Amino acid sequence: MSLHEISSRLKRGCEVIRIVLIVSFVGMVMEFVFAYFSKSMILFTDFVHWAVDTALEFMSMIALYHASKTLRRFSWGVLYMETFLMLITSIAIISFYIISFVDYVNNIIYSANSKVTTQNPLLSLVTLSGGFLTLYAFAILRKEYEKLKLEILKSEYTHALIDVVAAFISTIGVVVTALTRNPSTELLTVIAGFFFALHSITNIVEDAARSIIGVEEDKELIYNIKLKLSELENVKVKNVDARKIGSFYIVTVDLYVDPYTTLIELNEMRMKIIRMCRSVSEMIYHVDVRFYPDVEKYRKILKQKRKGIKGKSV
Ligand SMILES: [Zn+2]
Repeated sequence: MSLHEISSRLKRGCEVIRIVLIVSFVGMVMEFVFAYFSKSMILFTDFVHWAVDTALEFMSMIALYHASKTLRRFSWGVLYMETFLMLITSIAIISFYIISFVDYVNNIIYSANSKVTTQNPLLSLVTLSGGFLTLYAFAILRKEYEKLKLEILKSEYTHALIDVVAAFISTIGVVVTALTRNPSTELLTVIAGFFFALHSITNIVEDAARSIIGVEEDKELIYNIKLKLSELENVKVKNVDARKIGSFYIVTVDLYVDPYTTLIELNEMRMKIIRMCRSVSEMIYHVDVRFYPDVEKYRKILKQKRKGIKGKSV
């Protein structure tokens, strides 16, 4: 696969996630408006889930965008900052939610005749619409995965499928709660919804930990890349690093090269190395290649030159 092809695939993947991000944002606003006016705890929980998923989608889009710039160095700094921002936002939302949740549970336990917060069965139309939006996102992601074969789209559509189930459970919960006015049914639906939101939050925390702290450096992948690079002549591998962001890898290769190598040769070498790394795993979306002068070699050349000059003068 040519570099141009890799880059255009990643760009298309980025566009697809942008569409899903818009869908997610629409769903989030819709749930927020109805949760705010109805005061339904089920809808409020759903809103939290949508908000966290939107943040997750945003993180994937930004990471993929940077990865698609095949010839530019990967902007780790920007990624760290955005990941950190999304992490803080999500933690703030979840904390606010937990406070409301504790209040809600207290109300059920201690109030003698506690009423359910979801009283209108028509509110199920909101969660149902959310379900259809998610189904739409799932369909796009699935279709584009078949074309682009990008692993990130697969993990996105699997998540979308789980969320369709979540929307279905919420819808049933809203209808049953509003009709029976049973606090236990509502509480059960809320807890189920919260678990789905928690599933997304763990994804965000995991992603943040992976990219910021750099845990889960893939030792086997690094070994395989080193093995592949050993095929190259006139090159000494200084270091190889492979970091996972979400469902893909960013690889950094540091090499010692002959100090007399020309820029054109270096550029060709860089392209070759990017292709070699990509051949090790399809999940490597971006490769940064950094060159360092092989000082030892340079010293040897200088020594030989000096010896040559001495030899001539005698
Ligand atoms: Zn979700």
